Amino acid sequence: MASDRYAVSIESFRRARRVLPGGVNSPVRAYNAVGQVPLFTRSGCGARVTDQDGHKYIDYVGSYGPLILGHTPPTVIAAIHDAAKLGISFGMPTESETSLAEMVVEAVPAIDVVRFVNSGTESVMSAIRLARAATQRPKLVKCTGCYHGHADAMLVQAGSGATTLGVPSSPGVPAGVTDDTLLVPFNDLDAAACTFSEFGDTIACMVVEPIAGNMGCIRPKVGYLEGLRTMCDKHGALLLFDEVMTGFRVAYGGAQQLYGVKPDLTCLGKVIGGGLPCAAYGGRETLMRQVAPDGPVYQAGTLSGNPLAMAAGIATLKALRDSEAYTQLERSGTMLVEQLRRAAARSSVPVVCTHVGSMVSCFFVDDAHQGNVENYEQAITCDTRSFALFFHAMLERGVMLPPSQFETWFLSTAHDDDILNETTAAANEAFAIVAAANETPRTK
Ligand code: PMP
Repeated sequence: MASDRYAVSIESFRRARRVLPGGVNSPVRAYNAVGQVPLFTRSGCGARVTDQDGHKYIDYVGSYGPLILGHTPPTVIAAIHDAAKLGISFGMPTESETSLAEMVVEAVPAIDVVRFVNSGTESVMSAIRLARAATQRPKLVKCTGCYHGHADAMLVQAGSGATTLGVPSSPGVPAGVTDDTLLVPFNDLDAAACTFSEFGDTIACMVVEPIAGNMGCIRPKVGYLEGLRTMCDKHGALLLFDEVMTGFRVAYGGAQQLYGVKPDLTCLGKVIGGGLPCAAYGGRETLMRQVAPDGPVYQAGTLSGNPLAMAAGIATLKALRDSEAYTQLERSGTMLVEQLRRAAARSSVPVVCTHVGSMVSCFFVDDAHQGNVENYEQAITCDTRSFALFFHAMLERGVMLPPSQFETWFLSTAHDDDILNETTAAANEAFAIVAAANETPRTK
């Protein structure tokens, strides 16, 4: 990395590392997977961000999902200003909470009643508590490679075989906490069936990202979500869709609307807060009335339903609801993926480019993948070295990708054809660089 090019970021990072673990407040921001100092951001506008050294980039990080309208959309900024002038937080109900709740209930097929929280982690953690309380059962089933936030019970990923008892992915998570977390591979109904037949009457819920977005973007196989629905019903377990990433992203009503499968509980985050800290969980009336103070399942939050977050969420959802946003995002996602495939083919770099609407991934694969990436087990065997080369080549050409093979790229409504064509021009050169590097024998 040219130190003079990123001199301000390097100095900012040095300062940050003294007082923040890894210099960041969320690990992926540290750029460890691509081996460089993270670029500190100065500002964002539309599809672009500017770093502290003054370089402009087309941004595919999009704050990891919330910024579906791009950076600083005027209507959202105005709504936040207006709300802030009235007061930043009260700890008393405000009308804006009901307004956003009404919009959520209208949009999301499986939500009749909703509770706002502050992060996706909190949302999944709370929904699981509710599922366990409602079923009076202890166990959870989750898919390897799906991320549901960093609550202890969900911090389980590693494992082998079709069914593996959970082993914590982090020190500090007692094995006792994850003993009740069962793992299955994503997109594998047979594996789920085995787990359910062995543990069925103790399973409170199956938690799944209906479109996997935390091992790169992997769509569900045809019939997978329907199969999970049937299996949960058969065994009296609840189906929980973690739509923190997909909610209001792949369709206004989320993946459940796109695929026509209704979960019992839904978690939302990211887009719902328009870039401010906000998330939610919801479901049918009989379940949600068990949440305090209507029912005994305790869950609370000092800043939950914060007026600024509600204002940003309402303005964002209105902009999505009252426009052709999803048609545009689908078209942009398709166009980008097709252009990336062509650019990779031109340099004979084997890739699998996936997308659902505005969620995009480009996996660097080998022959063993047979043109397919369907689950975590396949995703982790992708060529992360080629991804890192590609990442750097794109960055040098003014395109900021998420700094890991396993993070989904996010498009916004501000990513127009010019932006996409500019991205493709950079990708043509970046794939050629990857191809040239792969021709050179690797040294360990
Ligand atoms: N669930 C999913 C599907 C996510 O993608 C994320 C965050 N990437 C979370 C939960 C956790 O959300 P948060 O980072 O807001 O805690």
